[in-house]
Amino acid sequence: MANPISLAIHGGSGTILKSMLTPEQEVAYRTTLQLSLDQGKKVLENGGSAIDAVSTSVMVLEDSHLFNAGKGAVYTAIGTQEMDASIMNGADRKAGAVAMVKGVKNPIQLARLVMEKSEHVFLAAQGAEEFAKMQGVKFEAADYFHDELRYNQWQSVKGTDKTQLDHTPIVDEKFGTVGAVALDASGNIASATSTGGMTNKKFGRVGDSPIIGSGTYAHNKTCAVSCTGSGEYFLRGVVAYDVSCLMEYRGLSLSEATKIVIHDRLLELGGDGGLIAVDQKGNVSLEFNTEGMYRGSFVNGISDVSIFK
Ligand code: ASP
Repeated sequence: MANPISLAIHGGSGTILKSMLTPEQEVAYRTTLQLSLDQGKKVLENGGSAIDAVSTSVMVLEDSHLFNAGKGAVYTAIGTQEMDASIMNGADRKAGAVAMVKGVKNPIQLARLVMEKSEHVFLAAQGAEEFAKMQGVKFEAADYFHDELRYNQWQSVKGTDKTQLDHTPIVDEKFGTVGAVALDASGNIASATSTGGMTNKKFGRVGDSPIIGSGTYAHNKTCAVSCTGSGEYFLRGVVAYDVSCLMEYRGLSLSEATKIVIHDRLLELGGDGGLIAVDQKGNVSLEFNTEGMYRGSFVNGISDVSIFK
């Protein structure tokens, strides 16, 4: 029998209730999630690597205005978009990350170039953009990233000290970030995460998404993880690595480890959100302690896309 392949994707978690989406919006979200899943799956079915699959799936989500990453990135306090992304390869634990980059069409591609073409792991702000230009990465002008909904979200909190997690009208209820984890036919796993962070963020705020170990982690021996949620708590909980540690040091299964981290350890800190994870056997875990999480998975030949609990 052929080696198993698995893939999971997410487009953010939060208080996502069916009543909050119009039928048209729900269809739009589901269609884009399905496209991301299908594109990543195609890579794996053609014998491509887990790193290629997660990059491909995340790029589809970055190219949509629906999700808070790439094209759909939220506005900062000064009306710019500052994006963060990270990627990790479970086979050799190589990783690449970028933070606070502006104008880059696909931040996940830049994170991957940091991993593959630089001797560093993490580049930030103008330096990361300079590296992007040297690598010939595609930039887009401000109007590409402009979205009426995002702009209005920002207008509602502009000039205040409030930061807002993605498209929630008043309260911080819904998070936006995109991610993917995969197991390829050679038995390697990888993960990728990309985000615009929080609406109205300032002072160079960076969340967990580009931090290896917090928002993203991959190790063939244990699991590949991509997180979404209240970044400050995911940073303090070193969430992605915590899942890996529970598997490595306590011998827990992927499902046991992700449940403990999301429902016990993260909640203990006061954090909310979710994660997607895969192990070398092809098991997939989509765990969240919020009302919903935009998500999709391909396991044992079966595709599924879901939004609500
Ligand atoms: N974790 C991301 C951040 O804090 C936000 C999110 O997942 O919505 O930047």
